[in-house]
Amino acid sequence: MKRSLTDYPLAGKRVLVRVDFNVPLEGGRVVDDTRIRAALPTITYLLDQGCALVLAAHLGRPKGQVVDDLRMAPVAVRLAELLGRPVKTTADCVGPAVEAAASALRAGEVLLLENLRFHAEETANDGVFAKRLAGLAEVYVDDAFGSAHRAHASTEGVTHYLPSLAGLLMIRELEILGRLLRDPARPFMVVLGGLKVSDKIGVIEKMLGAADAILVGGAMANAFLAAKGYGIGLSKGDGDQVAVAAKVLTAAATTRCELVLPRDVVVARDAVAGAPSRVVGVSSIAADEMALDIGPETAAEFVRHVRTAGTIYWNGPLGLFELDDFSAGTKAVGEAIAASASVTVAGGGDTVAAARRFGLEARMTHVSTGGGASMEFLEGRALPGVDALMDRGGTVAAGRRPLMAGNWKMYKTRVETKGFFADFAPAVAGVHDRDILICPPAIDLETALAATAGSAIAIGAQTMHFAAEGAFTGEIAAQMLRELGVPYVILGHSERRQYYAENDADLARKVRAALDAGLRPVLCCGETLEEREAGRTEAKVGGQLDVGLGEVGVAELALVAIAYEPIWAIGTGVTATPDQAQETVSFVRLRVRERFGDAADGVRILYGGSVKAGNIDVLMAQPDIDGVLVGGSSLDAQEFARIVRFVEPPA
Ligand code: PEP
Repeated sequence: MKRSLTDYPLAGKRVLVRVDFNVPLEGGRVVDDTRIRAALPTITYLLDQGCALVLAAHLGRPKGQVVDDLRMAPVAVRLAELLGRPVKTTADCVGPAVEAAASALRAGEVLLLENLRFHAEETANDGVFAKRLAGLAEVYVDDAFGSAHRAHASTEGVTHYLPSLAGLLMIRELEILGRLLRDPARPFMVVLGGLKVSDKIGVIEKMLGAADAILVGGAMANAFLAAKGYGIGLSKGDGDQVAVAAKVLTAAATTRCELVLPRDVVVARDAVAGAPSRVVGVSSIAADEMALDIGPETAAEFVRHVRTAGTIYWNGPLGLFELDDFSAGTKAVGEAIAASASVTVAGGGDTVAAARRFGLEARMTHVSTGGGASMEFLEGRALPGVDALMDRGGTVAAGRRPLMAGNWKMYKTRVETKGFFADFAPAVAGVHDRDILICPPAIDLETALAATAGSAIAIGAQTMHFAAEGAFTGEIAAQMLRELGVPYVILGHSERRQYYAENDADLARKVRAALDAGLRPVLCCGETLEEREAGRTEAKVGGQLDVGLGEVGVAELALVAIAYEPIWAIGTGVTATPDQAQETVSFVRLRVRERFGDAADGVRILYGGSVKAGNIDVLMAQPDIDGVLVGGSSLDAQEFARIVRFVEPPA
């Protein structure tokens, strides 16, 4: 397990943070601050914890020499602007003056060290140098995903001397890229372009086994066309690239993955702006012409593929996009990717530049900050900077993680869903010690999944059928949810019981079907006001649980959450008092214990019924309440974020 910074008590600590601030400078100013912004969640999280921060980074390739143009000062200026607080600097990254500056830091202060690569020991992963860096702090956090493929002193060496944690950007990169390899929503389309097949051969080979289709454009497509016997004139992609492409074609023939090559291309005699150009079929490239973009027919075909995708990974432009004359293919396909409701991930320096040129960046699920690191990760290679963060023995207290769940019922359109997450995701960024779940209407599930990909927010369904398939108009099966990538499902909500006559026996089948499909059910129970007043709360709730959990095995109990929701409190504005909620929730645990023994300690029991920002803290202070199921108050991003961020009583 990698340890994240949210798994470790950091309050008041001096923390060495390796960041990726390798940004372009011009005239002593940062001209693109994307990488600095990407590190802000980790930096602000640590500052919120009252930490003092020593930031370490490299800039360019000074090769062990002091190069004035590669000093960190302009980066410190931009970081200070973004943080709205001063950022101190030092003339070096190690040595007595640096040690004095680091130890003088107070909580909330930030120090940015001078360029690590002014010392050759950094890239040599020198142990003494690593130890000197480690001596500047009490804890190390690595948020430099872009440098994680290098075993350098500041990424690997230092982890031998300090408790070492992954930063939020590092975790996000690993989660999103990891999901591409592990469990992509299908169909999984890979759009590949750029100059050389040989640069991406490792990723192509891996993707032939993982993706449903690879759409190839850019100069590398020419190598494939040549390998298939087409004349490519003066196009880039000839020579040794053709043999590499031929190897890929042979490998592709034995996989399920479709390799889609251009049918038409835009050709010109010169790769310059304004050069006369024409669109030709790939068999008609003249000997004195070069292919500089995919043609309109190919772009349309790529767009058709992209529109059907569940996941898209884009690496490499599809033509000479820097020149307007040859940018249409990259632009059309890029726009289709950005408009897709699927999980969209872009990686690689040129891809990021293309996405930025066409204004697509903000509409991607994730734009990777690491070119080389993301490629090596997707090839399945171990990243030294990541492996160094593996938990070396320290264990995080098990306990029951709070589950903060929202049930939107039949509220919010697709557009409103997107709007909600645009506000909610930043409001809960950095919350990693509790599970956050939103259950939107079924029709919004895909939108919600795409909007939350890579974040800590989980998405659940509000109901499902117990059958795997069949003539059940309007219903959804567990496997359908699973395929979509939905991890949770609410079962037996009182409104479903009331309006759709859901009964305990059917619910037992649903719980079973959910578990069989790998979903985590949230089983609801609760009594009416009449039942409570007649003293029948325990009989009612106990009976619902006995039957509803009837087909659950002891070992899988921890996968089930139970939501106690007194019907008289749902949507009425009448909240059970904390004592009432605690009393019944503790009864629920006892009842579960009767059948499942100590496994009952692992099951999360939630309270639901008019939970609001104003009563969450006192409800969560009850010893048996492990979370909440929230209706009305989950519709407002800020209010639900406050609920998620409930304040624990002092120990
Ligand atoms: C619910 O529907 O599960 C619920 C608890 O609703 P509310 O929070 O609006 O009472």
